[in-house]
Parts: sequence; structure tokens; C-alpha cells
Amino acid sequence: MAENKKILLSGVKPTGRPHIGNYFGAMKQFVDLQNEYNCYFMLADYHALTTLQNATELKRNTLDLAIDYLTIGLDPANAVIFKQSDVSEHTELAWIFNCILKMPYLMRAHAFKDVVTKTAKVISSSMPLEYTVDTIIRDKGVDAFKDVTVGTFDYPLLMAADILLYNTDVVPVGQDQKQHIEYARDTAEKFNNIFGDTFKLPEEKIVSDLFTENGSMVGIDGRKMSKSYNNHIPLFSSDEEIKKLVMKIETDSSDGEPINVRAIHFPIRKALYPNELTGDYFKNLYSEKRGQYQALKEALITDLIAFITPLRKKREEIASKPDKVLEILKMGADKAKLQAEKKMSDIKDKVGVK
Ligand code: AMP
Repeated sequence: MAENKKILLSGVKPTGRPHIGNYFGAMKQFVDLQNEYNCYFMLADYHALTTLQNATELKRNTLDLAIDYLTIGLDPANAVIFKQSDVSEHTELAWIFNCILKMPYLMRAHAFKDVVTKTAKVISSSMPLEYTVDTIIRDKGVDAFKDVTVGTFDYPLLMAADILLYNTDVVPVGQDQKQHIEYARDTAEKFNNIFGDTFKLPEEKIVSDLFTENGSMVGIDGRKMSKSYNNHIPLFSSDEEIKKLVMKIETDSSDGEPINVRAIHFPIRKALYPNELTGDYFKNLYSEKRGQYQALKEALITDLIAFITPLRKKREEIASKPDKVLEILKMGADKAKLQAEKKMSDIKDKVGVK
């Protein structure tokens, strides 16, 4: 790794096929930034285990995600591409963090509150942000947590471990993960205060100008695109899937512009034609075809197919050589392990277990 470059780490959970929100929110940045930084790209399989408890599926998804990483253009000659569970220091460090962070602090995590409100069915998914866990406990008692695993609750500290083990400077993520990077920073500070200067404070790197749903890419129903809402367009969709999904996009709009169609179309168009003035393209298209939702959806279908077809073809090629992909993961694990062991040795010394 180059001495003079800053360190970047990020990851995706192998919970299913990645969607275009994952791509534009996070994965595209991985590619754009991989020459500027020393990069670690993780397959976050232990994070996936919080929601996916099926060995065959998890194994399949993990290999698939490695293939996806290579397809979008991550270069294993420069970047370290590895599976989280291959480096046991991640969970080891998460335990140490468990011992120094407090429960109420973790209860403030949006992701945790989200799960609690959904599983306890306290209120609808449009929970106001100020709705706190205190209120949930008041309404439901500890029963509110009966469907929340300890892993889900603890997720931010495993993520802090992922980031801090590698002396990471920047973490490219979607807006929904911003708070988790704040957790990693707070955890680093807390540890440094107790045990002495050990961790660098990482910063998030967020693409914010492309999206509309609270800074995230919208799905076909206008909410944040997410596998768990089943409102996503998979990154490697077939033409048929693309057509079907786009036709399903909800087009609620009062002024002749289907907002959701445009929100999805914008980043696709920009990626497909980087030299075009995307704003002008949409100004013209949406004035010419005002109110013609079918035609506007067809324009999106054309661009999505043009964008996804070459990716899908490249993916098929890479997927036909799974041994090569496994070799790359092995090489990545070896490199990541080397750094993680070094860091962990210092951490163990600091906390007094070495
Ligand atoms: P996950 O599937 O939760 O591991 O997410 C992988 C990455 O994609 C994370 O950096 C997320 O912040 C990002 N991401 C997920 N959904 C969206 C979305 N709808 N818009 C933008 N980024 C997203």
C-alpha cells in the first residue's frame, strides 16, 4: 500500500442482490475513489447474519457480492477485497467496545429505533424522528424489544471495529449510514480517553446531490430504496425486470412531473452520459413530455437498459470463474489480517490482556 495515501474502508452486507441505490449511494464511490486512497472493501457477512440466518443463502450471497464488486470495477491488485468473518479481529474488537460503551447511547441509533418501531408495531414506518426509545418503553415495556436481536442492537460497535482496525480516514456510505460513522468516531474517542491515543477519527464520505428521500435514492414506491421495503431495482436486473419495475413506479404528482421516475432517472442518466448537462436534459425532456408518464417511464427504461446491460454481461463472465474470485478473497483476507493483527496487538496491550 502506498505510504502517502489516506485509508478508505467500506462494505456492503451480502443480504441479497445489490440495488441501484447501493450502487449510486456507495459502490460507485468505491470505484471512483480506489486510486486516490489505500482501500479496504469488505463483504460484511457478520452484519448480514443479523437478518439472514440461512447458511446456504449467506454463502451464495457472499460469493455473489464478491462477483458484484469485481464487476463494478474494484481492482484486487490495488484494493484489499475481503470477507469480514475471515478476519476474527473484527468481532474481537467489537467485544472490547461492548465493554466500554453504554446501553442508552446505543439505543439512540436510528437503525435500532427503526427495528424496534417496526417489530413492536408501535406506529407506522413514518415514525417521527423525535420518537425515542423512552417513549417506546413507556408504551410497550421491554416487550418492545422482544424481536430485536442483540446483534442488531450492537451493530454500530461491530461497524466501529470494522472501521477503526484499519486506521481508516474515510468511509464512503449512503446517507442512511451517516450516524454509524459518528458512532465509530465516538467509540474511538471514548477508547482513546480511557486507554490513550490509539484510534484515528474517521470521516464519512456521502454523495448527497443525487438523491431525494432524505439524501437516499428513492425506490419504486417513493420511500428510500431498500431490499427490506421490496421497492428496489436490482443492479443487474434483466430487461424484463427493468420494464416491469419501472412500470410499477408510483407516479403521484400534481404538476405533471412524476417525481419518483425523475429521482431514479437522474443518477442513471448522469452515470450513462457524464459529459451531458444532466439538468438541461431533464428540463427539456420534462417540458416536452409533460404529463406523459408512459413516455417518461420509457425514457427511463431505455437508459436503465443501456446502463445495466454491459454490467450484466461483464458479471456473467466473472461469475463463470468462481475459483478466481475465491482466490481474490483469500488474498484480500491475508492482507487485511496482517493489518488487523498488528492493530489488535497494540489494542490488547493497551487494555491489558496481552
Ligand atoms: P447495505 O445493503 O445496507 O449494506 O448498504 C450498502 C451501502 O449502500 C451503504 O453504504 C448504504 O448507505 C448504501 N445505501 C443503501 N440503500 C441506499 C439508498 N436507497 N440510497 C443510497 N445509498 C444507499
